[in-house]
Amino acid sequence: MIMKEDDPRWGDRTRAIHVGEGVDEVTRASSPNLVMSATFSPDQVAGFSALNRSGYEGYTYARVSNPTVDQLAVKIAALECAPAALCFASGMAASHALLAGRLSSGDHLVISDTNYVGTAELVRDSLPRWGIEVSLVDTSDLNEVESAFTPRTKMVWIETPANPIMRLSDIEAISGLAHDLGVRDVVVDSTFATPAATRPMELGADFVVHSLTKYLGGHGDAMGGAVVGRTEDLDALNLEAMVHYGGVLSPFNAWLISRGLATFPLRMAAHEETAMQVADFLEAHPAVVRVHYPGSKSHPQHALAQRQMRNYSGMMTFQTREPGGSIAKRMIEKLRVVHYAVSLGHHRSLVYWIPTDMVMDSTFRLGPNAQARYRTFAGDGVFRFSVGIEDADDVCADLDSVL
Ligand SMILES: *Cc1c(COP(=O)(O)O)cnc(C)c1O
Repeated sequence: MIMKEDDPRWGDRTRAIHVGEGVDEVTRASSPNLVMSATFSPDQVAGFSALNRSGYEGYTYARVSNPTVDQLAVKIAALECAPAALCFASGMAASHALLAGRLSSGDHLVISDTNYVGTAELVRDSLPRWGIEVSLVDTSDLNEVESAFTPRTKMVWIETPANPIMRLSDIEAISGLAHDLGVRDVVVDSTFATPAATRPMELGADFVVHSLTKYLGGHGDAMGGAVVGRTEDLDALNLEAMVHYGGVLSPFNAWLISRGLATFPLRMAAHEETAMQVADFLEAHPAVVRVHYPGSKSHPQHALAQRQMRNYSGMMTFQTREPGGSIAKRMIEKLRVVHYAVSLGHHRSLVYWIPTDMVMDSTFRLGPNAQARYRTFAGDGVFRFSVGIEDADDVCADLDSVL
């Protein structure tokens, strides 16, 4: 059974290690057990459906619940200072569960016009087929958000900092506006920020989404996703979107992600420390035109970053004088400390070239005004750089060899 070991007086480092992880009562194991069993043998005659378990509270089947996955959910909720969390097989499984589990045909969704590519493509291509109307707006602009709301708007979805351009949105202001105007759900994809920077529910959000594949797992070896929210909302989502859509997290991945989470506060401090030095190095580099890092004074929304982020994480973008495609080619051939690869939030530094024309064609398809705003952050393209926790000097020297 999971131990709800917790103490509100504990600091974040203690909570990241101990919440959900008491000593096992049967074996006295100090580290968490990994329970891989797909089925469980109840000690009483229990119901057959998750909708009616005849009063039985224990485990029955791993798609309904599993102790190792539950331990991880308890820890994620604790780090967000939120009532509850549900874990999924990937960040996209979590996003899909929340969108499909909360929205119905005839509902309207307002969502950032720039966000994680999978989310952007899912809401563009799938939601309209299910009868859900979608409006894409620049959520860094409160007026745009307000004018997009209609009486049918049930959800507003923001991502801050937004992939891939590091544009920020004001969670507190959007939550206040949305709830004043009767919009039921404010959702924040907080994968880039993490709970080390921002706890969106404390700022008024109703749900928080994470890709656990990124900073929370932190080691690039396990995919997972989470939805954080109020207990009653997540109970309903659990029955429909977990048990029936079936995107459950493997217990093995939950165990790996829990192990990664123990060092989460330490890693985030190290990501920020290395990233600050790398941002300064890039800003001073003659081959670099522009850097966007929320922790730098040069970020156009640095004031909002200071208000909303206690940690600036390791995510940044930079633009170069030389066309990015040719630098990317050199990166693939020459980089040693930094890997040329998608994904982010791993202990290892990762960089990837994202040309604006290509991503407009495949994913964002923005109108002229929205595209002009995107280009103020991204020009013709950005190197998305997930600064790891290596020594900053080694990361800078590696980059210097290809710039
Ligand atoms: C990676 C990512 C996702 C999707 O997560 P997966 O675990 O890859 O499915 C969603 N949102 C953001 C911001 C991401 O970076």
